[in-house]
Amino acid sequence: MTDDIKCIIGLEIHTQMKTKSKIFCSCPVTESEPNTNVCPICLGYPGTKPMLNKKVLENGVKIAKALNCNIPQHVFFSRKSYFYPDMTKNFQITQYEIPIGLNGNLSIPWEGKSIKIRIKRAHIEEDPGRLEHVGGDITNSKYTLVDYNRAGIPLIEIVTEPDFTNPEQAGVFLKKLRAILEHLDVYDSDMIMKADANISIQGGARVEVKNITGFHNIMKALEYEYNRQRIMAKQGNFVKLQETRAYSEGSKTTKQLRLKESEADYGYIFEPDLSWQNMNTDRLSIIFKTMNELPDERIERFRKEYNLTPEISTVLIYTDKALADFFETCAKKVKDKVLLANWVTTHLLKCLNYNDVSISKSKLSPENFSKFVIMLENGELNERLGKELIKELVSTGKDVKKLMSEKNISVISDADIESGIVEVLKKNEKAVVDYKAGKVESFTFLLGEVLKKIKYQADVQKVKNLLEKKL
Ligand code: ADP
Ligand code: MG
Ligand code: ZN
Repeated sequence: MTDDIKCIIGLEIHTQMKTKSKIFCSCPVTESEPNTNVCPICLGYPGTKPMLNKKVLENGVKIAKALNCNIPQHVFFSRKSYFYPDMTKNFQITQYEIPIGLNGNLSIPWEGKSIKIRIKRAHIEEDPGRLEHVGGDITNSKYTLVDYNRAGIPLIEIVTEPDFTNPEQAGVFLKKLRAILEHLDVYDSDMIMKADANISIQGGARVEVKNITGFHNIMKALEYEYNRQRIMAKQGNFVKLQETRAYSEGSKTTKQLRLKESEADYGYIFEPDLSWQNMNTDRLSIIFKTMNELPDERIERFRKEYNLTPEISTVLIYTDKALADFFETCAKKVKDKVLLANWVTTHLLKCLNYNDVSISKSKLSPENFSKFVIMLENGELNERLGKELIKELVSTGKDVKKLMSEKNISVISDADIESGIVEVLKKNEKAVVDYKAGKVESFTFLLGEVLKKIKYQADVQKVKNLLEKKL
């Protein structure tokens, strides 16, 4: 949309951090029967004390560094007091006064340029338990069950400044952020990213859409709220009081929950049961040294090593780290890296999306796909036949050569192409005459007939050349 209504978006993103155990006890973080991954610490028994999982701190430092944040010299935690059955202690341990990351920024690609999104803060906290409202929602269920397996699972919350001007920018940011977290190995692609999305129109108050689950819903909620407020603003109707709304996956709309409460309601106090962590430069540099290659560095390496454009590398890396890894495994065997990257980011990606499967869960192995691309490279396959095969390569995982012989697909010899051409020319004498008289369209027609005749089992350019010769 290109009118002059100015939109402002800021995100608060939270996600689980990858660890073996919880943040303040040794309970595992694996999926299991309700209330089996619990102990006196994460159940908040009186007299128990939390113990900080060092891996969580390390992950937090890596995230803060990757987002170009300031990391404080001393890390400590606070209690956010509230009374609700999802947290037995009646407070959540979080970071409030000084978070692990402060005043950072992240550049994202936008319309051929790069724009900088400021990061306000990134902080570590524990997840509460999960409430299950049986037979309905919080307003109408008969009763509620609580599962404390999630209580004490480490989370990172990342808050941006209100620097996005439309939902698509927020989408690019989320993809890049996800890629960073995946590359740092602090996040698994099946962990769920949640967000509170703040949107306002210049001159209006801000709406916070709370607790949206997953990338897809975050985008849908942003688009809905963006359009709702723009339409209101066009009618001179601005949001007057800051409000909190909820997104409904069913109706794909947002509805008002309440006017916004202020942070002070939570009564934060310093957590005395956890000692301060001294993050001196020695300690930090040890952690920095173990940081993996980040997406920006990887894009640059792909340019140098494989001659890929930043655009295509971005697709490989932002879609799913595993897709970029898959590409690199194949690149060890396939000579033409650009051809390989093109096939991965177009036809292969389309098939994966169509089947709603990620590369790691699909049946296609990098060995098999390499074989396939090498055949394309050698002219043993052409694009059209390749497109026909790739669907089944993804869905069945069958060896490409086996699949070709089963489907009776092969690229035919030059002699076979030539005899096809001879037959077509014989049958279409008028078109031949027209062509010789200078009618260009007749060539296209004849080429089409030949391709049909040989069932597209040859490279189109090659057929074109042979046909030209014959004519
Ligand atoms: P609060 O303490 O009320 O939660 P914050 O200052 O922490 O407010 O901001 C919360 C989120 O709201 C941040 O992501 C920020 O970018 C965003 N935000 C702040 N002002 C606006 C605004 N005018 N429009 C949209 N988002 C905003
Ligand atoms: Mg907030
Ligand atoms: Zn525990």
